[in-house]
Amino acid sequence: MAAIDGLPPLRDVISTHGLAAKKSLGQNFLLDLNLTAKIARQAGDLSECDVLEIGPGPGGLTRGLLAEGARRVLAIEKDARCLPALAEVAAAYPGRLEVVNGDALEVDPLAMLTPPIRVAANLPYNVGTELLVRWLTPDVWPPFWQSLTLMFQREVAERIVAAPGSKAYGRLALLASWRADARIVLNLPPEAFTPPPKVSSAVVHLTALPEPRYPADPKVLERVVAMAFNQRRKMLRAALKGLAPDIEDRLIAAGIKPTDRAETVTLEQFCALARAVKG
Ligand code: SAM
Repeated sequence: MAAIDGLPPLRDVISTHGLAAKKSLGQNFLLDLNLTAKIARQAGDLSECDVLEIGPGPGGLTRGLLAEGARRVLAIEKDARCLPALAEVAAAYPGRLEVVNGDALEVDPLAMLTPPIRVAANLPYNVGTELLVRWLTPDVWPPFWQSLTLMFQREVAERIVAAPGSKAYGRLALLASWRADARIVLNLPPEAFTPPPKVSSAVVHLTALPEPRYPADPKVLERVVAMAFNQRRKMLRAALKGLAPDIEDRLIAAGIKPTDRAETVTLEQFCALARAVKG
């Protein structure tokens, strides 16, 4: 039976175009168009937006984004085998889908997009984490994107939204919460994908704040946080010894006990410490 967009079901698309999943490209496809539409809805109101999609594969999420009314989708896909399938999607939505065959870690899509821009992706988790860090650390803020709606391994998603005091709390949570609101909007079991991965997944939605939550120099904050969590079991006065000879005083000035450990320190305190170290 044809789907709502008049295109064939994804299972047929995959067999017609010989898209056997490649492990090396992290290919675990979503074949349920109800589910891809649900993920697309988590990305917010798309009607006035260009959507940057990374890793469209056979086009399940792409079709969801277009069916949910995206003004335009720019999709970057590394696997050239997917291009004919994506050309069929482009033909069903004239003028609304452009596909670039390339590596998302190398292609700069900005010149091809018109704001406002939202990002949506179901990516191999290592590529997803690297892109997330890049998107959260541009040279200027606010960034080019309004929101990011990204699939991750559940464990990575939990690290992105973690609160102080939890095991998952660390650099990723601090980076995300400094400049964005981040929350898990959907949990997916392995069986939602073909082939199923070994672990569960989750969709994280991040909305860019107009400015960072607390003032701090990004480079200093990154250094302080990296040092603190590199030795997360140590007390901060030991873990941060290399930062300044009078680190204990600076920790106290930032409202942090020198005997505290990184995982109990809040974002606000880390930002205060970054200012105290720089000042
Ligand atoms: N979006 C599709 C879906 O939800 O069914 C496919 C998801 S699959 C997990 C990941 C997709 O990302 C694959 O199509 C893969 O070829 C593509 N991909 C992997 N690495 C990539 C990269 N560096 N740049 C662009 N696409 C990549």
